[in-house]
Amino acid sequence: MEKIVIIGNGPAGCTAAIYAARAGLSPLVLAGNTPGGLLTQTTEVENFPGFPDGITGFDLVMNMQTQAEKFGARIEYDTVTSAVLNDNGIHRLTLSDDRVIETAALVIATGASPRYLGVPGEERLRGNGVSACATCDGAFYKNVPVVVAGGGDSAMEEAIFLTRFASEVHLIHRREQLRASQIMADRARSNPKIIFHLNCKITEILGADQVSGVKIADTVTGETGELECKAVFAALGHIPCNEVFKNAGVAVDAQGYFIARNNTSLTDIPGVFVAGDCTDPHYRQAITAAGTGARAAIDAEKYLSEH
Ligand code: NDP
Repeated sequence: MEKIVIIGNGPAGCTAAIYAARAGLSPLVLAGNTPGGLLTQTTEVENFPGFPDGITGFDLVMNMQTQAEKFGARIEYDTVTSAVLNDNGIHRLTLSDDRVIETAALVIATGASPRYLGVPGEERLRGNGVSACATCDGAFYKNVPVVVAGGGDSAMEEAIFLTRFASEVHLIHRREQLRASQIMADRARSNPKIIFHLNCKITEILGADQVSGVKIADTVTGETGELECKAVFAALGHIPCNEVFKNAGVAVDAQGYFIARNNTSLTDIPGVFVAGDCTDPHYRQAITAAGTGARAAIDAEKYLSEH
């Protein structure tokens, strides 16, 4: 039986692994299908303390993983498909290859996955012009117009990144006010290749085999129109990855985020702890995820020493 299993190897999972490994617990980290988590899909990270010149999301998270492994963490790239929690103090996880892992403590740091628009054409054209990752797919769209949907920091970042390739970037946001921070909004606004469409929503994504445009509507006047583009990048925030553990009885809030007790990582299930974006509807920063990862490992260590 394992002492501690950590699910997810984004900043929260890796930090939990560093702390647990340094405490001599030899954690097993299940890295799932998106090794490194969403941070690996961002470009430059400029606000993680300790890197005055910035660092790529990929390098940052790989450094964290190397640091955890140095102290004895073991990383496996497998996905948990079901879980039975707290069966007489033992948590049983079934993996996609049908293996069953038993553990005394469990840290859930499963992160969040991108939200999509949910409009006609989107699902059908996903991978053929519809994407949620400009870093992954932006280079395919050289010298053609593209659309970014959303008004948060991710939308600004994606739009700015896409100006390296696209002829023009149409940023479509459903309200007048941007949700993005001032610095990111200013950067996007000062980029001549970015065209803002505020109070505007996408009602359909057009194209037979590839995206050819979007249908849009003014959210104030109701006026409709079409915009030609070759790609639509959804930058609409994220949905917590909770399915397996919600079904296993870990409480979630109305938006699906795992509920931790005040200022801890404790759930209502003894020996089960939560960390990172899957339990954070507010901050969702690499540094805050890392902080809650540390907290979860400390809480788990205390639990293990008491049981
Ligand atoms: P946010 O939740 O901040 O923004 C999501 C955006 O998508 C909002 O503008 C929202 O509109 C819009 N939206 C959501 N659902 C829909 C929908 N169905 N149809 C149309 N529009 C929709 O997510 P982000 O990913 O941008 O940011 C998450 C966190 O990560 C934030 O804390 C952000 O600061 C941080 N971040 C920081 C970066 C940086 O500093 N470099 C880079 C990227 C992220 P509305 O505003 O109307 O709700």
